[in-house]
Amino acid sequence: MSTPSMLAQGHHSTNRTVTAGSARFGGGGFTLVGGPCSIEDEVQMEAVASAVSAAGGAMLRGGAYKPRTSPYDFQGLGDAALPLIAAAARRHGLPTVVEALSETQVPLVASRVDMIQIGARNMQNVPLLRAAAKTGLPILLKRGPAASLDELLGAAEYVLLEGNENVVLCERGIRGFDTNTRNVCDLGGALRLKELTHLPVILDPSHATGRRSLVEPLVLAAAAAGLDGAIVEVHPDPDRSKSDAAQAIDPATFARIAARVRAVRAALADEEVYAVAG
Ligand code: PEP
Ligand code: MN
Repeated sequence: MSTPSMLAQGHHSTNRTVTAGSARFGGGGFTLVGGPCSIEDEVQMEAVASAVSAAGGAMLRGGAYKPRTSPYDFQGLGDAALPLIAAAARRHGLPTVVEALSETQVPLVASRVDMIQIGARNMQNVPLLRAAAKTGLPILLKRGPAASLDELLGAAEYVLLEGNENVVLCERGIRGFDTNTRNVCDLGGALRLKELTHLPVILDPSHATGRRSLVEPLVLAAAAAGLDGAIVEVHPDPDRSKSDAAQAIDPATFARIAARVRAVRAALADEEVYAVAG
């Protein structure tokens, strides 16, 4: 399959800027999104929203419906999670991104968030892609764990064909043979996407590596390399996370990452001073 037509770089004269509430992806900034893997309770969400906002993060993430590998693991709070993230985000002036796992969840998710995430396991779920696209909300499309770049672009094209051009692509690691990291972080692939399309591309180093020690260096690498942002899992008490504890970072680490991203971008900028918030 060749690069789908609507997405090809040559089809557009400029790279696309995608707006999600007050967050902006693309256009030369580096957009930092933070929040827990799972939305757990009001106290947790207040702590995370406060930390993300204070650090200069642009957007709050959180999972309501969790696509866990094992059906015996925490599955998320479900619908009840949506008011928790919405309220915490509103208190701190942050827009939100939440994954919809199925077509039937789309209307409710769309009514409470600023951006809909399509998860890695659902990258090629065409009815879900179409339903999410039709809401008109911006879409965060994660690369499937074994999807080629062209397959990711094909999935994005389904969204564009519904008349919704607000798609942000996300590299979140692909399946490899080594078990030291959860996945293989394909930074080169993410950069290649920037050559192939006009859409913003961000990195998720949390799911890509499964290790909190690797989150900060990979966000800095993404910022230095010219990606459009990063999405990271943050928890007020990382070891007590109900899901993905090993890759969760604490608020202090998130704040340090945000500050160091600013330093990296400023050091590399020719004339423009880049803002973390994009
Ligand atoms: C997530 O971001 O919460 C998530 C489940 O990610 P992925 O779909 O990339 O596994
Ligand atoms: Mn997670």
